[in-house]
Amino acid sequence: MRFRELAERYEELERTTKRLEMRATIARAVREAPRADLAKLLYLSQGLLRPEYEGVELGVADSLARRAIAIAAGVSPEEVGRRAQASGDLGRTAEELLRDRPKPLDPGELSIDEVYDGFLGIARTHGPGSTDAKVDRLASLLARATPLEARYLIRFALGTLRVGVREMTILDALSEAFGAGDPAAREQIEDAFNLTSDIGLVAEVLAERGLSGLRELRLTVGRPVRPMLAERARSLEEILTRMGGRAAFEFKYDGLRVQAHLAADGSVRLFSRRLEEIGPQFPELAPALVASVRQRPSIIEGECIPVDPETGEMRPFQEVSRRRGRKHEVTRLAEEVPVVLVVFDVLLAGGESLLAEPMPKRRAALESLVRPAERVQLAVHRPVASPEEAAAFFDEAVAAGAEGIMAKSLAPESVYRPGARGFWWIKYKREYVANLDDSIDGVVVGGFYGRGRRAGRFGSYLLAAYNPTADRFESFTRVGSGFDDRMLERLAERLRPWEVDERPPGVDTGLAPDRWIRPQLVLEVKGAELTLSPVHRAAEGRFRPGAGLALRFPRFTGRLRDDKGPTDATTSDELAEMYARQARTLSKSTAAPPPPDEGPEAPSSASERGPRAPKGV
Ligand code: ATP
Repeated sequence: MRFRELAERYEELERTTKRLEMRATIARAVREAPRADLAKLLYLSQGLLRPEYEGVELGVADSLARRAIAIAAGVSPEEVGRRAQASGDLGRTAEELLRDRPKPLDPGELSIDEVYDGFLGIARTHGPGSTDAKVDRLASLLARATPLEARYLIRFALGTLRVGVREMTILDALSEAFGAGDPAAREQIEDAFNLTSDIGLVAEVLAERGLSGLRELRLTVGRPVRPMLAERARSLEEILTRMGGRAAFEFKYDGLRVQAHLAADGSVRLFSRRLEEIGPQFPELAPALVASVRQRPSIIEGECIPVDPETGEMRPFQEVSRRRGRKHEVTRLAEEVPVVLVVFDVLLAGGESLLAEPMPKRRAALESLVRPAERVQLAVHRPVASPEEAAAFFDEAVAAGAEGIMAKSLAPESVYRPGARGFWWIKYKREYVANLDDSIDGVVVGGFYGRGRRAGRFGSYLLAAYNPTADRFESFTRVGSGFDDRMLERLAERLRPWEVDERPPGVDTGLAPDRWIRPQLVLEVKGAELTLSPVHRAAEGRFRPGAGLALRFPRFTGRLRDDKGPTDATTSDELAEMYARQARTLSKSTAAPPPPDEGPEAPSSASERGPRAPKGV
């Protein structure tokens, strides 16, 4: 398939914000693509070269791209820089300059394959002289590109492809192309993605063997599974009621979620909650796991928590975050901030998948698989059958320094559900008891310049919740407190590459920030209450026509959620549930029902859908 055709689809995608149209456009590209190009086309459209968990990075900076454009267009890099400053978009600049070029070589003949291989070559170029080699490779792609192709080649190279195609929309498009849009097919495709975390692979299987081929996809060491997630409850009694009077309670450890993959040959890979490989940051865990895990290949899950080097007691989460992202100093920090992996689940034991087994069986398997030691321990786990036992366990957990408890269903249906949030796991935290609401993880979508001391840089940020049904980021608050000067500086620096002039696709808000920011970074905030607002768009129309949910008096907690990607942020459905719960609590305490126009309806969140057994495992 020619890259030109894909560039035309991208242009169509850029012109619409309607999910149905986007889905139809991608479905069309999927149908038109030959089988061999399908996975490449889908990775490219997401701005990737390989599934996200492989962490393949291009390493192309603005200056490098400018040099490549200069060569292809026959102008100086300074000229490219000047033009880019005026347009604010290097992709457009490349397009314009190439349009003015005397005569392209063979425009429109680039294939998807060539583009993909060209970029893969760029990603694999390392070491001395690599910048020049990357410039050459990019320039030779541009030399053969049409102006429109150049726009997207440059945006891809810089990681600013703005066509806004996220996983959920691609899954919709795949179900349209291969399952006639049937909801059951959509569910099957999503299950396959949750199991493999690889949309390219899922698409290839669909193209080769159709929907039934998905059933043959297996859990594989080295390919992370999207983690099973927990719901919240208001009280320990509610948890027991939901779980039929009995449950297993565990300590809820406050650290980093880790999925550990142990291969038969003794190699170990650790994946974070958002499936990034984090093994190199915790080098002491791999040998500890090899010593503790009795059979391989195996996949286990746990929480990586900091402990006091003297007493072995749990330390605050913030300390473990000091070890994230540091390439140097790893050894020193490993001594200063020792960690323990507290394991709570097993997905694969000695090559056998346990995903379809109920939780009690998985826990038994975990206990016989793992030999606890200094760095690898088993999560405290106890059956609970009365509110008194539940309260006593909760007190014990908090006294030990845990964040609360995690209740786990004992029902036969309590299988491991990749990527699903449901009432099979329910979290209950210390802060709920203090009557403070749970924190909210919002995606930054815009920045407002500050005043006074903060003049000249961002003083507050527009945050959005994720709506997976519409694949949209819906604003719910503007947060300006809880940041110190250093944090504001750090944030501005982190966000700079994602600043854009126009509202990014998929962002929905009634506010106009000074700068738009592409949804990438997740911040944790807390606030006083949720209210209805005409300018915010989270769960819009759910409680009153034309009104969305807004968080009042928001405050940044100091926690950057680097372990969450934008689509892992708090969802609009979750905000709607919090709002409904808050209204119930208020109406109880005032003994008056909420006014009819604000009275929340029962939320119809995906997480409240009935349980469903995983397929294809
Ligand atoms: P979520 O993961 O639900 O989106 P979050 O990342 O903000 O939200 P929490 O609300 O703190 O996390 O709760 C879920 C997380 O708790 C799990 O992803 C896991 O990292 C952690 N956790 C700690 N102890 C346990 C346990 N015993 N069983 C399962 N998860 C646990």
